Amino acid sequence: MKILVISGFLGAGKTTFIKALAKHTGKDFAILENEYGSVGVDGDTLKDSMDAGNVNIWEMAEGCICCSMKGDFTASVLTIANTVDPEYLVIEPTGVGMLSNIIQSLQEIEYERISLLAPVTIVDGHSYERYRREFPELYRDQIASARTIVASKMEQADAEERKVLGKKLREWNPDALIVTEHYSGMSSDWWNRLLESGYDGQVLKDAGANTEGMPDTFSLNGVSLESPERLILLMEQIVYGQFGDIFRAKGHLRAGGRMFRFDVADGQYSVMDMDTDQEGKAVFIGNDISRQKLRRVFFRRREKGAPVKARAEISRS
Ligand SMILES: [Zn+2]
Repeated sequence: MKILVISGFLGAGKTTFIKALAKHTGKDFAILENEYGSVGVDGDTLKDSMDAGNVNIWEMAEGCICCSMKGDFTASVLTIANTVDPEYLVIEPTGVGMLSNIIQSLQEIEYERISLLAPVTIVDGHSYERYRREFPELYRDQIASARTIVASKMEQADAEERKVLGKKLREWNPDALIVTEHYSGMSSDWWNRLLESGYDGQVLKDAGANTEGMPDTFSLNGVSLESPERLILLMEQIVYGQFGDIFRAKGHLRAGGRMFRFDVADGQYSVMDMDTDQEGKAVFIGNDISRQKLRRVFFRRREKGAPVKARAEISRS
């Protein structure tokens, strides 16, 4: 599943752009839409306007996927990958979502089956100066984190105005592809490339429809451990196959009062200190993952009369 994030400030025209993307590429994709509250502000919801027959649309409301619903967001993306597994998932954050946070969350769950496409930010060229003044941090984040920036609402602008806008956008993002012409005139090559360019610039090949032998993903939220030593032990146990054939594990959690980020890949692990406090999360990817056993490591039940430290199985080696 390839993920394309289409970011942009309130009213920039993200929904219209997504519709154009569907039309120009002719690809079927699933959409994950994040809305504040239950009704879209502009009333132009995707569900009403796209052919609902072949588009899967999920909505996440009542919070923001870049911050308050961060954990729900990655869990939803993993669930979509593991159930529907569309070739493309387009994510439309709220207008006030920090694109850099969303990219970071997605990178944490990126693996063989989930890859991040170069994100797009739509900028309302008409309101650019005002938003830039009023919401500098947010606005800059959306512009600076994108790989393609598309200006909208520039129908009335002349060549000079487009050039000026392009220059200003370039100041905040020297590397992105910046389009100040109306996107309806872009070639089909350009549209297709949006679905092929990886986040780091490489061209992604088609993942193909073969799901046989695909690995399993298991994620846990709200995890913590009692000490850093316990975390190291867990890493060792994963590498030595005590929880099944796990070839990739990633996450962050609190262990003995400190926050750590951990990573397991190719039979090696790393554990690093983290200075931000976040809800604990762990993702395991592999075959025949011992889910119950892993769950017990983090959420052991206190048995009557047993000391807190006593727990089944994990000390067997
Ligand atoms: Zn947010």
